[in-house]
Amino acid sequence: MERPQYQVVITDCDHGSMEEEKEEFGGMGAELVLAQVRKEEDLIRVCKEADGLINQYALLTRRVLENLPKCKVVARYGVGVDSIDLKAATDSGIIVANVPDYCVDEVASHTVAMILTLARKTAFFDRKVKSNQWDFRQGMPIDRIQGKTLGLIGCGRIGFEVAKRISAFGVKVLAFDPYIQKAGEGIELTDLQTILKRSNFISIHCPLNESTRHLVGEKEFRRMEKKPLLVNTSRGPIVNEKALIKALEEGRISGAGLDVLETEPPDSRNPMLKMENVIFSPHVGFYSEESISELKRRTAKNVADVLRGRKPLSVVNREVMGKTRASIPSD
Ligand code: NAD
Repeated sequence: MERPQYQVVITDCDHGSMEEEKEEFGGMGAELVLAQVRKEEDLIRVCKEADGLINQYALLTRRVLENLPKCKVVARYGVGVDSIDLKAATDSGIIVANVPDYCVDEVASHTVAMILTLARKTAFFDRKVKSNQWDFRQGMPIDRIQGKTLGLIGCGRIGFEVAKRISAFGVKVLAFDPYIQKAGEGIELTDLQTILKRSNFISIHCPLNESTRHLVGEKEFRRMEKKPLLVNTSRGPIVNEKALIKALEEGRISGAGLDVLETEPPDSRNPMLKMENVIFSPHVGFYSEESISELKRRTAKNVADVLRGRKPLSVVNREVMGKTRASIPSD
C-alpha cells in the first residue's frame, strides 16, 4: 500500500464518528489518526509526525507545539481557541484556525425560544399542568409580545439573527454595540443606558472579555425601568450572578432565561434553581445535529486547505501569515 502523503491527528474529541472529517480528507492521501490524548507527553508522542492537528480540549502548550516539527496547522473544533498557545503557534509558523459561525442559527433560535418561553410562561404552565393544576390565572399577568422592545447587548452574527427572528413577532429591536457603525435593517443602534431604560426584553450577545465581565451588574439592574426579562446565551460571567439573584428577589426584572452561568453546572444551592420565573438550559445553544456536522466538516476543511496550499477560511493568528511552514502564497 502507498504511504499516505500527510498525517492528520485528532488530539481528542467527544464526537461519535469521524465521517465528515474522513470525507473532507478523501482523495488527498491523508492518514487520519484519532489519538484521544490530553497529557503533554502523550500529545508530543502521538503528534510528532503530524502535518496537521485537529483539537478539541487537549491543551496545546508551547512545549507541545515546539515539539511538532512537521505541523503546519492546528484547527480547533469550535470558536474559542483557549486550548492553544497562540503565540507559541505563531512563533513556530503554525496556522491556528477555528470555525466562528457554525451555530449562529442554533443560538439565535434558542435565544428567541427562551424569550418566548418566559414571555408566554410556557415552562411555568407545563410544570403546573403536570402537577394537576389546570388554571391559567396562576400565570397572571402575561403581557402581549407584539409592540414590546428587545435590547441587544452585542449585535454581531447571533445578535443580528435574534433581531431578524423576533421582528416577526412585532417586537422593536434596539442594540448596544460599541464596535459597529450600523446594526442592520430595523435595528436601532443606541447606548447601554437606553437599552436598560427602554427594553422589555434584554438579550446578551457580546463576547466575554475583560471589558464585558460583569457588564450587567447591580448598577445596570437598578437602571432597568421596565422590569425586563433577561436572556443570556452568551457567557455566564458577563452577568454578575449575585446582582442577578438580587434583582430577581427584589422584582427589578420579571424573569431570566439562562443557557450559560458563572459556574456551570450550577451549585445545587443556587437560589435561582427554585425560582418559577427563571428558566435554564445546560449550555446547549450551540447544538443541533446539523451544527455539529458542519463544525466537523469545516474544522477538517481548515486543515485540508492548508495542506493543499490554500489559506483556510478563518485564521485566528493572522500575524502568522507570510511566515508559516505551509506553502501558502501570501495575500
Ligand atoms: P460576533 O463576534 O459575531 O458578535 C459579537 C458582537 O459583540 C460584536 O458585534 C462585537 O462588536 C460586540 N461587542 C464586543 N464587545 C462589546 C461590548 N463591550 N458591548 C457590547 N457589544 C460588544 O459573535 P457571535 O457569533 O454573535 O457570538 C456572540 C457570543 O455568543 C460569543 O462570544 C459566545 O460567547 C456566545 N456563544 C454561545 C454559544 C452557546 O452555546 N450558548 C454558542 C456560540 C457562541
